[in-house]
Amino acid sequence: MNSTLDQEIQFLSGVGPKRAELLRQELEIATIRDLLNCFPFRYIDRTEFYAIRDLHASSSQVQVKGVVSKVTKEGVGAKQRLKAYLTDGTGVLELVWFKNISWILNYLKPDTEYVAFGRLSEFKSAISMVHPEMEEMAKFKERSFQGLFGVYPSTEKIKKANIHGRVFRNMVEKAFEKIGNEVIPETLPASIIEELALPNLRNTYKILHMPESIRDVSKAQFRVKFEELFWVQLMLAYRKQIHQRFVKGFVFLREKDHLLKMFYTKHLPFSLTNAQVRVMSEIRGDVEQGKHMNRLIQGDVGSGKTLIALLAMLMAIDNGFQACIMAPTEILAQQHFHSISNMLSDLPITIRLLTGSTKKAERKDIHEGLQDGSINIIIGTHALLEDVVQFQNLGMCVIDEQHRFGVVQRAKLWKKNSQTPHVLVMTATPIPRTLAMTLYGDLDVSIIDELPPGRKPIKTAMLFDSHRPKMHKLIRDEISKGHQIYIVYPLIKESESLDYKDLEDGYAGITQVFPPPKYSTVVVHGKMKPDEKEAAMKLFASGQAQIMVSTTVIEVGVDVPNATVMIIESAERFGLSQLHQLRGRVGRGESESYCVLMAGYKLSNEGKTRLQSMVQTTDGFELSEVDLKLRGPGDIEGTQQSGIPFSFKLANLSTDGAILKLARQKAFEILEQDAELSLPEHSMLNKGLKQRHAQKISWRDIS
Ligand code: ADP
Ligand code: MG
Repeated sequence: MNSTLDQEIQFLSGVGPKRAELLRQELEIATIRDLLNCFPFRYIDRTEFYAIRDLHASSSQVQVKGVVSKVTKEGVGAKQRLKAYLTDGTGVLELVWFKNISWILNYLKPDTEYVAFGRLSEFKSAISMVHPEMEEMAKFKERSFQGLFGVYPSTEKIKKANIHGRVFRNMVEKAFEKIGNEVIPETLPASIIEELALPNLRNTYKILHMPESIRDVSKAQFRVKFEELFWVQLMLAYRKQIHQRFVKGFVFLREKDHLLKMFYTKHLPFSLTNAQVRVMSEIRGDVEQGKHMNRLIQGDVGSGKTLIALLAMLMAIDNGFQACIMAPTEILAQQHFHSISNMLSDLPITIRLLTGSTKKAERKDIHEGLQDGSINIIIGTHALLEDVVQFQNLGMCVIDEQHRFGVVQRAKLWKKNSQTPHVLVMTATPIPRTLAMTLYGDLDVSIIDELPPGRKPIKTAMLFDSHRPKMHKLIRDEISKGHQIYIVYPLIKESESLDYKDLEDGYAGITQVFPPPKYSTVVVHGKMKPDEKEAAMKLFASGQAQIMVSTTVIEVGVDVPNATVMIIESAERFGLSQLHQLRGRVGRGESESYCVLMAGYKLSNEGKTRLQSMVQTTDGFELSEVDLKLRGPGDIEGTQQSGIPFSFKLANLSTDGAILKLARQKAFEILEQDAELSLPEHSMLNKGLKQRHAQKISWRDIS
């Protein structure tokens, strides 16, 4: 298979080994195929010239034409610069160079018309163009192409080497000369190309690198975006269907619902929300039919996920199996243990807690109980993963806040059984739909998008430091109503010691405004010994302390329904999902609750958007969409460990949701028809998937 596409670019005329090496190192362009797949991410219409009179400083590049009048050299040595003035009859534009001065000086001829192309900058309200690309008008007109011009990915080194759009364009033209009439093998099945009326691969390359109209460009971009998303979806769909075909699940029968029925009728003080009912029937659908459940439940804090976990575990117990919940922190595990023990207190079910601080004798007892089957539900932390933990018959495995566990850790848990138990992962960090379809594309996803009735939305405000007295008044008022207050400080590794100082100062400040013995304030942070921490938490949980000053250790876990105020200091330093999580710590009881975001004066635009979004909505899914727009998918929690490529060349998960849905639908359709991808028309898919699978990600490692 000696396709021209596989040839190295250094053999294209005008490229050579030096440039080729630079392109390989900086942009991973080694072959002609790589070059063709390096697409412009933006286009500039170079048929248009701006009138100099109309220019104003902006970030995008502009093109002007005119005659160079005066050329002057200013400054000496390193500070030397060259200035030229371009006149087009409407005004005069200053052009500036700091480098290649003698070359430019030589190039610029008087009374000659030039095209200048570049970015405008503003200095003391005067506009200039720094380091413009200059070309004589006569030459410009000679060039066959004058329309849309691609802007290619670049790096500092690429810029320094002067490899700009025009150079790319020349390389691509040379590449096409070399390819000639050779067939460019398709990477998508003909059926899809036809059905979606996509341009073929050759045309896609031609259009994207040498476009004639912006309409063509958007069609070709659509194809590239579709294809980028399609491959990820095909990989996920493939994984999912392998899982479905080869992993059998335990069957839980409805007839056996004994404890579950008892719990529903005698112990549950409320009825399920519609969303909870829907999720329960989705779980039923999985476990009734011998399908192996691998399901993610997404729902905001307080939407009632724990209850769903509990019901699912009861199903397992009714059918003679054991169940477990693994939580990422000791606090969270304890909380699950207490609330679940409470809810099941009158039922003949043995529940135990296993964490890092479980004493040795108790630990041994628990290990035995799990092995002989006398323990029905085990709740714990990473301690559950130890090899000594063996089950008699684990049937249902719940993982809370799963993104906090590494993939290997999670897999370890359900490999404890010879037959894989049903897996339910829960997350209170809502993520946008597009991201969920990608990140968890091989799981079934259930969404609880409804809070139990009677919850009052949390009132959120953003305050600056000068309004601190207002915040103190809120604290005083709420405490006088018998309520409790959280005050949270950021903790960032790089500035940890400074952060701790802020926390200490904050604690000192608060105890001054709210002095003991009338008020009691506890402080909790990660540097405390576990028993000290626990003691402080207990004081707060029992209501003896009204105020808790802490770092984000309370982010997951602490459940004090009597707490009605969440104050977040230096709120701009937190990410959106973290802010949302923190806010979720209040509003758990019947009373009106408040969240106060204390903002620094030096807010970045992004910081401001985050805080304003928090003020505007309490919907976690909505906030996650904002987060995706602000940060891009690569920075959203969980994406890095996923092993799924998230850096797309053109596709954008925050704006291309519709294309993603289409890509996913097509991927599943194809596998439904041809599970093994063995049909000749799917051979390119089979091959592509194998190449991509070379990274050896197995479904079991992903959860
Ligand atoms: P999550 O785990 O999603 O944060 P929880 O399961 O802890 O939420 O539920 C939060 C609170 O709401 C708990 O006190 C729980 O008892 C209560 N709750 C759950 N479901 C309902 C419901 N359908 N109606 C009323 N209250 C509910
Ligand atoms: Mg929970």
